[in-house]
Amino acid sequence: MRRIGLLGGMSWHSSIEYYTKINTAVAQRLGGHHSAQILLDSTDFADIRDLQVAEDWAGAGASLAATGQRLQAGGAEAVAIATNLMHKCAPALEAAVDVPVIHIVDSIAAVARERGYSTLAVLGTRLTMLDGFYTERLEAQGFRTHVPDEQTCNEVDQIIFDELTQGIFTDASRARHVEIMDGLKARGADAVALSCTEIGLLVPPETAPLPAIDSVDAHVATIVEWMMAAV
Ligand code: GLU
Repeated sequence: MRRIGLLGGMSWHSSIEYYTKINTAVAQRLGGHHSAQILLDSTDFADIRDLQVAEDWAGAGASLAATGQRLQAGGAEAVAIATNLMHKCAPALEAAVDVPVIHIVDSIAAVARERGYSTLAVLGTRLTMLDGFYTERLEAQGFRTHVPDEQTCNEVDQIIFDELTQGIFTDASRARHVEIMDGLKARGADAVALSCTEIGLLVPPETAPLPAIDSVDAHVATIVEWMMAAV
C-alpha cells in the first residue's frame, strides 16, 4: 500500500471524514487489521481563512507548498488537498513537490463519467462556483456546468464560512441548500457536485433532490485506488 499525505484542517470537520472514509475503504479491501497509511498535516484554518479573505492567493499557495513539502519529507508518496476551494492553489503545490497531487476535480469527473452524467451543477464556496479554476477543469473534461446566480452563490458561501466550516449544521441551512439544488435540477443538471467538503455533512448525497456526487467520497475513491495500485 502506498502512503498518502493529506493537506487537512480546511476544515477539520471534513478532514475527519477523509480519515474515516479512507481507513474504512482500505479495511474493506484488505480485511483483518489492515488500515490506511496516512500522513495528515492539519493546519490552523484561521490562518488560511485570513489569506482567503485578504485574497492573498500567493500566500495561500505558499502555505500549501510548505505543507506539501513537509508531507513529502515525511514519506508521503502522493498528496491530496482535502478541500475544494484550496485547489485554486493546486498549481503552487504541484510546483513545490515531486510527488503526484491527486486533484479533487478529476475525482468528481471520474465519478460523473462512470455514472454517465453530462451536465453537472456545482455547489460550493463562491470562488469554487464562480472563479473558473474549478468549472473550467470540468468543462475541459467534456462536462457542461451550471452554478447558481451570483446572489445565491454569495448566500451559499456565507453559510459555508459562517456555519459549516465551524461545525454548525442547521435545519434551516439544510432546507435552503435543498431548495437551491431543486433550482439547479430545474435548469437541467443531471447531477449536483457537492463541491465543498462540508456540504455532504449538511445534505447527505442520498437525501439530495437530484443525483449528487460528494466531493469527499469521489476524492477518497481516487486516493484509495492510488494507494492500492501496484507500484
Ligand atoms: N472545505 C470547503 C471546500 O471544500 C471550504 C473550506 C476552504 O476554504 O477550504 O471548499
